[in-house]
Amino acid sequence: MRLKNITGSREVIAESVYVIHEPEKQKGNWKKQVFGNDAPIHIEIGMGKGRFITQLAEQNPDINFVGIEKYSSVLLRAVQKMEANELKNLVFIRMDAEYITDVFDRDEVDRIYLNFSDPWPKDRHAKRRLMSGNFLDRYRDIIKKDGVVEFKTDNRELFDYALLEAPAAGWEILKKTYDLHNDEYMLKGNIMTEYEERFSKMGNPICKYIIRQGEKEDKK
Ligand code: SAM
Repeated sequence: MRLKNITGSREVIAESVYVIHEPEKQKGNWKKQVFGNDAPIHIEIGMGKGRFITQLAEQNPDINFVGIEKYSSVLLRAVQKMEANELKNLVFIRMDAEYITDVFDRDEVDRIYLNFSDPWPKDRHAKRRLMSGNFLDRYRDIIKKDGVVEFKTDNRELFDYALLEAPAAGWEILKKTYDLHNDEYMLKGNIMTEYEERFSKMGNPICKYIIRQGEKEDKK
């Protein structure tokens, strides 16, 4: 994502009531302490300006959503959307997902969304890819047994890489498509992200997988 340094974004984020400022303190207690209910928790990692998770939260008031983004200047846009239309079941964290296991406890998360994650094209940076085995191992630590990760991208090379990484890290590929927008079954309920809209308008097919980790007990 091209980043503009938006003046004051850090300060706005630091003061926003929609952002959880010391997320490690909520570890193991997100449902009770943050949302005050017992509903499932779905998170989006690298949510960008937040259109996807905001619409999803609006459509699913019985699910708790947490949007995670590394940069204040980007997160600012999601916070502004919440200021215009407050949702009780959505909060944000500004953090690097590398530290995700400091923030969520074992089995605390029900579903993880990864949308148009940065490709990090150089081999030496592969571990930074949010769908690499390196990150999938972290997700396995926080997601419930049978919980799923959903990943969308228009980058075919990155998708092929992701399809190899998932089984190697002990995840089962439940569904996949190389052309989401022409796949009637997988398209049902699809919410377009900012990047998805931009790349599909350029004619790029969108790839998507849904994977499930089913070997947790064996691997731990
Ligand atoms: N998901 C949005 C979409 O589909 O429109 C944004 C996609 S953008 C290419 C990727 C986003 O992921 C950026 O906003 C970037 O800052 C964020 N990101 C990348 N690595 C991250 C990490 N390790 N932790 C948190 N956010 C990250």
